[in-house]
Amino acid sequence: MAPGKQPPQYRVTLEQVSGEEADRLLGAAHFRDFHPVRCSACQADGPFERRLFRIGGARSREPDGTVEVLVRAHLARQYGAQHVFFRVDDTRYYAETARCVRCGSTAVVFDIEFTDEVLRKVAELTGRSVDEVRSRLEELTRALEEQDRARPSGRGGRLFRRR
Ligand SMILES: [Zn+2]
Repeated sequence: MAPGKQPPQYRVTLEQVSGEEADRLLGAAHFRDFHPVRCSACQADGPFERRLFRIGGARSREPDGTVEVLVRAHLARQYGAQHVFFRVDDTRYYAETARCVRCGSTAVVFDIEFTDEVLRKVAELTGRSVDEVRSRLEELTRALEEQDRARPSGRGGRLFRRR
């Protein structure tokens, strides 16, 4: 770097989305399909308190490693969040954490729910039958679960979704 030159500014903002807006976003199909399913600490399958944050200042809405690291670090410090998940909406980039209401743990596992609506959508896109898609997804889920068990770090998974 040339002397006297400032390193590029990198400012990321994190704004909690709450109230009606959060309800609307979490209720939208592409958010609803991916939701907290199990507490890693007490194994409860709910209820969970979800926290949603809008990420601003990221250079693009594409997933970015630097932004992820910053956001994870901040949410860990601020809320003790152990698992943070990132989502991409049409124009926005979000982070989400969940807290187990029963034991207070934030080590909550998220999962995609293969609702009939999701299955129909996938079938339509791939030109396969719903039954074919279902059995293929079940295979895939088993493979992912095995991968998860094989991964020693126990770090939360993450998933990027685009519409
Ligand atoms: Zn728990």
